[in-house]
Amino acid sequence: MSAIRLFFALWPSPALAASLAGWAEQARLTWGGRPMRTETLHLTLAFLGPVDAALADELAAATPERRLPPGEVPLERFGVFGRQRILWAGPGETPAGLQAAHDELWQWLGGYGLAPPVQPFRPHVTLLRNITHTHPPEEAPAPLAWRYDRMVLVASESLTGGSRYRIVAQSRPIEG
Ligand code: ATP
Ligand code: MG
Repeated sequence: MSAIRLFFALWPSPALAASLAGWAEQARLTWGGRPMRTETLHLTLAFLGPVDAALADELAAATPERRLPPGEVPLERFGVFGRQRILWAGPGETPAGLQAAHDELWQWLGGYGLAPPVQPFRPHVTLLRNITHTHPPEEAPAPLAWRYDRMVLVASESLTGGSRYRIVAQSRPIEG
C-alpha cells in the first residue's frame, strides 16, 4: 500500500508568518542559505514519517475530534542545527504547555502503533535551509508571542526541488 509522510504542526497566522519571514531575511545576512517560503513556515509537534494510506485516512478523520489546550510559544531566539544546515527561530525554553501537548499527542499516536522519536522535543520554526555559515546564534529581533489553539495534520509530498505540504485535517479549538 502506498505510504504518506505525515506530521502534526502548529501553523502560524499569515501575520505571524510574515513577521517570521522578516526574521529569516535578517538571519540570512549572517548565515546565508535559502529562506523557507512564508506560507510553509510551521512548528512541528510530531513527525510521523511515512504511514500507510489507511492509517493516514484514520488519523485525518480523528484529528478534528482532538482538543489542543490553547497556549503561547514565545519566539525569542535564533538557533542553528549545524549538521542539517538549518537556522531556526524558537523559544528560549520549551513552554510546559507545549511539552504537555507534544507528550499527549504522542500518547494518543501510540494507540495507533506509532512511536515517538528518541530525541527530546526541540520546538523550532525552520527559517533557512542550506545555511552557508554555522556561526553560533546571535541576538534575534524583538520576541513574537505565538498564541495557538489548534494543530494541523500535514501531508508532506516529495517533489523534485523539495517537499510540498498539504493540510489534511485540523483539531477543533476548545470553545471559550
Ligand atoms: P525535505 O525533507 O524533502 O527537504 P521537509 O524537511 O520540509 O522537506 P519533511 O521531511 O516531510 O519535509 O518534514 C516535515 C516537518 O517535520 C519539518 O518541519 C521537518 O523539520 C520535520 N521533521 C522531519 N523529519 C523529522 C524527524 N526525524 N524528527 C523530527 N522532526 C522531523
Ligand atoms: Mg526533511
